[in-house]
Amino acid sequence: MAEDHITSLLKESRQFSPSAEFAARAHVSSMARYEEIYAHAVRDPDGYWAEVARELRWTKPFTKVLEWEAPFCKWFSDGRLNVSDNCLDRHLEGPRRNKAALIWEGEPGDVRTLTYLQLHREVCRFANALKRLGVCKGDRVCLYMPMIPELAISMLACARLGATHSIVFGGFSADALRDRILDADAKLVVTADGGHRRGGVVALKDAVDEAITQCPAVQRVVVVRRTGSKVAWKEGRDLWWDEALSGVSADCPAEPVDAEHPLFILYTSGTTGRPKGVVHSTGGYLTQVASTTRMVFDLGDEDVFWCTADIGWVTGHSYVVYGPLANGATSLMYEGAPNFPGLDRFWDIIERHRVSIFYTAPTAIRTFIRWGEEHPTKHDLSSLRLLGTVGEPINPEAWMWYHANIGGGRCPVVDTWWQTETGAILISPLPGATPTKPGSATRPLPGIVPAVVDKEGRPQPPDKGGFLVIERPWPAMLRTIYRDPDRYRAQYFSQIEGKYFTGDGARRDTDGYYWLMGRIDDVLNVSGHRLGTAEVESALVSHDLVAEAAVVGRPDEITGQAVVAFVTLTSGTIPSDEVKHDLTEHVAAQIGKFARPAAIRFADALPKTRSGKIMRRLLKEIAGGSSAQGDTTTLEDISVLAKLREDEE
Ligand code: ATP
Ligand code: MG
Repeated sequence: MAEDHITSLLKESRQFSPSAEFAARAHVSSMARYEEIYAHAVRDPDGYWAEVARELRWTKPFTKVLEWEAPFCKWFSDGRLNVSDNCLDRHLEGPRRNKAALIWEGEPGDVRTLTYLQLHREVCRFANALKRLGVCKGDRVCLYMPMIPELAISMLACARLGATHSIVFGGFSADALRDRILDADAKLVVTADGGHRRGGVVALKDAVDEAITQCPAVQRVVVVRRTGSKVAWKEGRDLWWDEALSGVSADCPAEPVDAEHPLFILYTSGTTGRPKGVVHSTGGYLTQVASTTRMVFDLGDEDVFWCTADIGWVTGHSYVVYGPLANGATSLMYEGAPNFPGLDRFWDIIERHRVSIFYTAPTAIRTFIRWGEEHPTKHDLSSLRLLGTVGEPINPEAWMWYHANIGGGRCPVVDTWWQTETGAILISPLPGATPTKPGSATRPLPGIVPAVVDKEGRPQPPDKGGFLVIERPWPAMLRTIYRDPDRYRAQYFSQIEGKYFTGDGARRDTDGYYWLMGRIDDVLNVSGHRLGTAEVESALVSHDLVAEAAVVGRPDEITGQAVVAFVTLTSGTIPSDEVKHDLTEHVAAQIGKFARPAAIRFADALPKTRSGKIMRRLLKEIAGGSSAQGDTTTLEDISVLAKLREDEE
């Protein structure tokens, strides 16, 4: 049946093994060791996860591990712990107490460093302030903030009390914020008078004021003074951060909660449709986030770890805040844009703070390529020892550029596959062990059992594309969609019987490596070949003149669907019919004649979500001749869409 699989066409044969030097000091230092741990976890998953979970501090030890009543799970359910205790108090007993927990840099250039001791004190004080404002265990608190230390402090303060946080990315509009506040039923909002972005100020408080005119449950708004901008004020409701803290004690014992207690709700990026309020637990989430941070990033006590994601996305929750802090590591946090004041801001930050591990998104890497390698070469990046990516498939050419120009050819690159729903990284190289292949997320982490299957759930042979599923529950998986268990079941557990459905297409090669091929919803059907978007896009981006590409299908009488490519060119390249012809032939040579784009459309920019992912569903509507009708609330820049429509006319 043609619909069963996805044809895979791209072949990539380059391979990079970790250096002996890197492997020697790594937590997992050989493939043999990885295989051993993996096999143990397959044989005895409960034993494996219990061992990992015991690395946390439990106020009451658990005796149960997994309870699975498909599709609902509980992990470590009779255990009790507190996330804030694990991320802070635990480190105060030894030499880490005076180590930097957070190194923060504001866009204007101000720097603040908080040691574990200092961060603990701030968190305790703000937790007491929240208590005084009536926040109790089980309440929801909405955080709509810039990337400033107070955001991390607020998260940890909520966790300390057992309140559930719902962070809404500061780039969202008042309407999107309102929908998320209502859905989560939050009673308090923490925001700021603004955040610095690209030399301007993001007016967060204005958006809150507008949003909560329609949110009667919100009783209080706490406002951090960040930019000094003038903001409207509602007495009795609004309160400055320092006022909230005045006279509070710095003594606030962490409240132990059940392992299954909801730590946070987070809405997905909305790349494929209406965002889902993903609910995460306490014990299972922290277990896996802590262990993946250590394993995948090979985190050590001297590292300075910089994950560039905004905390408003799951990547920021797991790998700016909870994962690094649970490990007692130093996490760097940056407030602003990568191009302020110059195109070299990131490299400047790496040089000045001696960042050793750098984790960013393919879309950012493609932007850096477009800006040119003269920006990183101006800086001393020798402190880097490991690079990572997440968010989209990384095309091999971008991987190679990153490896050479940022990593100096010496840093392993970990391409980490995961989702808001998975809570933590599931498929990724272990940098001291796994030989990497550009464009592949490589092998599953221990305890994770993925498979590539057809519609009936039958495993596909090597190199045949299909649906990526996860066969067994894992501790950090989402517990439900907030107040919508039916949608949880329908979305993740009804497509393939008994298995978690990721929504992504993938193939597994003969070495057992996973290659992500894009989203199932975006798969093209050309003359009976079902093509993943990632491979055709990757072929286009491997052409020197192409900076970024998005590929979608358009109905076609003869072939079923025809390939339409939206392309942004490298700076300085003038669009022309000749370029179109070159690109068409390039795809034919790389993949095959049938994958040749029927149309190539040049664009200054592609429509992206606020987390930087290409929104193919909107391009599909444009390519098909209809104006984009779908949900555009998560679109980063609405004018991009208008511009694409204009070009059509
Ligand atoms: P929505 O679910 O609302 O449509 P979203 O899927 O973009 O939004 P996220 O949870 O932020 O929301 O993104 C997860 C998705 O990102 C994955 O399902 C996958 O499609 C893509 N992704 C993440 N990391 C990788 C990676 N390393 N390689 C390939 N794809 C990746
Ligand atoms: Mg998704």
